Amino acid sequence: MPAIPPRGDAASSDSRKTSTKHVCEDVPLPLTRLEIRDLSGEGAKLFLHTVDAPSILNNAIKTVHAILTPMRLDTPNVRSITLILRDFAGVAYTTGKDIDFEHKEIHFSTEYIESIDPERLKDEITGVLVHEMVHVWQWNGEHSCNGGLIEGIADWVRLKAGLAPPHWRKRCEGCEWDAGYDVTGFFLASLEGEFGKDVVVRMNQQLRHRYVEEEFWREISGGKDVKILWDKYTLSQSEQENRDREEEQRDGEEKQENGEKNQDADRKLPFRKPESPIGSSKDDSPA
Ligand SMILES: [Zn+2]
Repeated sequence: MPAIPPRGDAASSDSRKTSTKHVCEDVPLPLTRLEIRDLSGEGAKLFLHTVDAPSILNNAIKTVHAILTPMRLDTPNVRSITLILRDFAGVAYTTGKDIDFEHKEIHFSTEYIESIDPERLKDEITGVLVHEMVHVWQWNGEHSCNGGLIEGIADWVRLKAGLAPPHWRKRCEGCEWDAGYDVTGFFLASLEGEFGKDVVVRMNQQLRHRYVEEEFWREISGGKDVKILWDKYTLSQSEQENRDREEEQRDGEEKQENGEKNQDADRKLPFRKPESPIGSSKDDSPA
């Protein structure tokens, strides 16, 4: 996931969970293959025990088409997609075969799969695969696109598929709009309100051609500078964070106050004489 593919032709999905809302059924599927280079490690075993490989790959493809390229919009030619499970440092990356770039490879680290919290295993594997699958199908401005935008679009699709993990950030200290991944993904989602639900779909289509930042954003936003849009976004995020903090504080104070009231109520409870145990009345006493 964090690796930007070597040739910029950049791209994760839960099979069943994702499929309900965003899976587009009307998509011709390319040949998909699974290659396990390290069957002895725990990562490969966990993968095989947790997900159904054909379904997870096909659903990831359908999810990407439903969210990023609906209405059969143009996509790069893809003849096959091979998921390769192997041991390497990192999470995952997507590339094409040197000999024929229409044959794609998604490399997924077994070391990373082994490190995932068992409770999040299926969602995380699915999420990473949807992200990588975006790289298979997205345009990249003829390899000229800003890497942060490429990664942001991939995480935007993961977000829209309902597969954002709990640790994702909406902004980070000192970073810009093209920080990539979660931050750029949330930023792109925030633009939907002002520029329409299809704003990222349009961005991807525009990346069929070379990326020149100023022109690209002028076209997308009707003349607004991306830096201004980012400043507006970070301001609204920090205001939201302040509101959340205040609410949390109020909740905490309320809980504390209720706790104190309950303690007072306990203290004020009138002393009650214990009832006589059953069978202890005088009548029942042995003669
Ligand atoms: Zn990526």
